[in-house]
Amino acid sequence: MEKADLLLKVDEKYYPPKEIVENAWVKDYESLYKKSIENREAFYEEIANELEWFQKWDKVLEWNYPYAKWFVNAKTNITYNCIDRHVKNGKRNKVAFISVDEEGNERKVTYGELLDLVSRLANGLKSLGIKKGDRVSIYMPNTVEAAIAMLACARIGAIHSVVFAGFSEGALKIRIDDAKAKAVITATYTKRRGKKIPLFPTVKEAIRDLDFVEKIILWDRDNELSDEYEEHNVVDFYKLIKNSSKDCPPEIQDAEDPLFILYTSGTTGKPKGVLHTTGGYMVNTYMTSKYVFDLKENDIYWCTADVGWITGHSYIVYGPLANGVTSIMMEGVPVYPHPGIWWEYVEKYGVNVFYTAPTAIRMLMRFGDDIPAKYDLSTLKVLGSVGEPINPEAWLWYYKNIGRGKAVIVDTWWQTETGAHMITTVPSYPAKPGKAGKPMFGIEVAVVDKQGNPMPPNQVGHLVIKNPWPSMLRTCWGEPERYEKYWNEIPGYYSAGDLAAIDEEGYVMVVGRADDVLSVAGHRIGTAEVESAIVENHAVAEAAVIGKPNEIKGESIKAFVILKEGYEPSEELKERIKDTVRDVLGPIAVPDEIEFVDKLPKTRSGKIMRRLLKARELGLEIGDTSTLEE
Ligand code: ATP
Ligand code: MG
Repeated sequence: MEKADLLLKVDEKYYPPKEIVENAWVKDYESLYKKSIENREAFYEEIANELEWFQKWDKVLEWNYPYAKWFVNAKTNITYNCIDRHVKNGKRNKVAFISVDEEGNERKVTYGELLDLVSRLANGLKSLGIKKGDRVSIYMPNTVEAAIAMLACARIGAIHSVVFAGFSEGALKIRIDDAKAKAVITATYTKRRGKKIPLFPTVKEAIRDLDFVEKIILWDRDNELSDEYEEHNVVDFYKLIKNSSKDCPPEIQDAEDPLFILYTSGTTGKPKGVLHTTGGYMVNTYMTSKYVFDLKENDIYWCTADVGWITGHSYIVYGPLANGVTSIMMEGVPVYPHPGIWWEYVEKYGVNVFYTAPTAIRMLMRFGDDIPAKYDLSTLKVLGSVGEPINPEAWLWYYKNIGRGKAVIVDTWWQTETGAHMITTVPSYPAKPGKAGKPMFGIEVAVVDKQGNPMPPNQVGHLVIKNPWPSMLRTCWGEPERYEKYWNEIPGYYSAGDLAAIDEEGYVMVVGRADDVLSVAGHRIGTAEVESAIVENHAVAEAAVIGKPNEIKGESIKAFVILKEGYEPSEELKERIKDTVRDVLGPIAVPDEIEFVDKLPKTRSGKIMRRLLKARELGLEIGDTSTLEE
């Protein structure tokens, strides 16, 4: 049976500074939450009314388990709300994106310019025969051109499918093939660590046998490839923009018309084409960006994700633009040309809201506190985290060294499938390090056993969402049975596939993926808990744990540990690490084996692939590794 005393003791609360509470959109989380739950549809309707619609809905929700329609029969276009609306409201000259690279080059694009670029590219796509409902794959660097490509598709109702530009040819091919994309938008290369990484050759290879791909639209960054154009049906991205009219009325989209397909990163197996639609996704990314990041008119916002992930879709492109703020987009890695580059840009641009992932925080932590200390980070007020559970060590480092006690941390739990934040504390609400926090407005979550019975407080079970929400996935592209599984696994609920526990105060702690769960002597232990405990040892930078079959205990724990700079592996240190885990979690969670490693296998989005460690350890088939980072 599950046991409460295995959970990390992270009950310390961090209260937001008074100025943040006083100026927040949401000053009283509890009362707004209550209101949102008592009448969910009225709550979302009120938010939807802050945006513009060509025609309003007949009904907010039509729920036909497990299929939902939100804002039934409403008409809009997400690009109208993300761009035209602001241009119309006097923000033509406001900067929408500052696209920067590792060398300090920047390109600013105003809302007016964005409208022009998106409209022209949209007309260009039409001229190539791309129409509403067609799929377009996008394999682009993390620059404003990627956002322009996505928005141009949305403008005409074409369904974009962005593939992260770090994926190799095989992974790209699977995704283009599955979506049957009519065109691929790409660039000659992307830049990482000062090097050019070619993209166009990868696209050419990937589509070699895919005759349904009619065109490649190529951003020829150094104008060097004119010979290639005829041969491969290649169209020049910027020529297409230049030669097309800037008048492109937005396609009238039904609220339920598809907006995009995004393949999940595949930490746990074959990627799924998660389908999101227009209206509900727009409303929820708008609302969560506004409330969770407390976005204000003059904020400078920076999400370090890549547009190739859901975080990039919802919180680089659609959510921030719907709120009309200025966003930074960076092409490059956090440690090049130096490990203070992010903080240098925070200072340079006066960033107010910063959103990143625990993997990046842990990486930057390894370089020490002196690096961020060199920069003026006083503009920061909200620091976000997403992608994995953030261990309290990393949370506190982020809080102290980056936020310096003046900024709040929002640890946002959500998924490609949920489209928008589901669990987090809003800035005005006290946060607990290592616990994502409270459900977002309109969202009711629970932690249950396999049959759907609620677990008592502090006991680990399956994290579920109890009701449909506007930005939920509508299906898996071409695989409705995979979609239905989300709602059938635990009857009546959306099953997230994560393990969690809820404390007496209603804070949710996500402890890992259900597929990674450890089962030691009858105790179910989340990987994140044990890893967090290991990282509490001051010598440890990062850890990953797996379960190995054990005749007596069911499973024994093996830990793979990366040490911080300046620490040497030793048997003695292994014992100290075990002591740390014993102190933090208790004897049951102490690893039987520890192996020191220099690297952990991660997905290209930076998540640890425990499945791979386990397969390797047990000499099993590794399965699909297309998402594995090199
Ligand atoms: P796949 O579903 O293909 O295996 P993935 O789950 O990594 O890939 P995403 O949708 O990008 O793809 O990630 C969502 C998952 O990331 C969540 O289910 C959860 O496991 C983890 N996650 C995201 N944010 C948080 C967070 N703040 N705290 C804990 N876990 C998080
Ligand atoms: Mg997932």
